[in-house]
Amino acid sequence: MIRNTREAKPELINQKNIKYMETNPCNNNAKGGYSIPSKVSRKTKQEDTIVNVNGVHFGGSEIVIIAGPCAVESREQLFETARSVKASGASILRGGAFKPRSSPYNFQGMGEDGLKLLAEIRIETGLPIVTEVMDTRQMELVSSYADMIQIGSRNMQNYPLLKEAGLCGKPVLLKRGMMATVEEFLLAAEYILSQGNDQIILCERGIRTFETSTRNTLDLSAVPMLKSMTHLPVIVDPSHGTGIRWMVPPMAKAAVAVGADGLIMEVHYKPEAALCDGYQSLSLEEFDLLMPDLNKIASAVGRELLVHKRTMV
Ligand code: PEP
Ligand code: MN
Repeated sequence: MIRNTREAKPELINQKNIKYMETNPCNNNAKGGYSIPSKVSRKTKQEDTIVNVNGVHFGGSEIVIIAGPCAVESREQLFETARSVKASGASILRGGAFKPRSSPYNFQGMGEDGLKLLAEIRIETGLPIVTEVMDTRQMELVSSYADMIQIGSRNMQNYPLLKEAGLCGKPVLLKRGMMATVEEFLLAAEYILSQGNDQIILCERGIRTFETSTRNTLDLSAVPMLKSMTHLPVIVDPSHGTGIRWMVPPMAKAAVAVGADGLIMEVHYKPEAALCDGYQSLSLEEFDLLMPDLNKIASAVGRELLVHKRTMV
């Protein structure tokens, strides 16, 4: 369903914003046009925005861990993985039902059957779920199941989809486009916010550079940069950011150290058998071992990990 989107009104621009707009890189100063006040900007709103994903809060002092498989593949795969990441202390379950694959011949996801499995395991575990929406035509369906919708890297500049996300009534996990600058990333978030939805979490997931030893180059410098420029929470995806399983733990720890408000990580009960992104997925044991280490880094930077029913050592 395509709905009408709200237009920014020039008369709503106040004097304070006009002064700031002169120096704000977030503003699109089109020649001869007016500038739109930047709702994502830290200068427009100083205090941190707290994003509430069905009772799990991002952007406060606690660091939130999202974990789960790249894609929902089967009941057994999802349920075993979900139970285990919960026992390890994850607060939100991830899992794609509609997958943006580079090849059209690769597994495309289970679709609505995958969403149903996510809804079922949410009831059992109590973990809110985040899952990707790739198309405006899927928005209503996906947001009827998900606690938070994900807009993937490939869709960060899909403006109709961003506008729909602004109207969907659910928090949005917005991943940085693999070729997007920080400014373009913030402008993508502005599209969602311009529709009245401020429940947006930004996710740094690696950008494409000349470097080929890793799948992407995880731009951790974007984290403090984004935190200074915007009031929105910022999380990091070290799975897609590196594409290599053994690099996920060190980069996850580094992300917490540079001020990330959370992490999203791919975890699979049998990574070697995964239909999607197995080479970058942590095993259940690896994830379990990582969590106490993350907790130590969090306390070293004056924060703590939000954990479910687990005593950290
Ligand atoms: C994912 O989270 O599985 C995914 C496809 O991520 P990205 O959009 O960052 O590539
Ligand atoms: Mn993936």
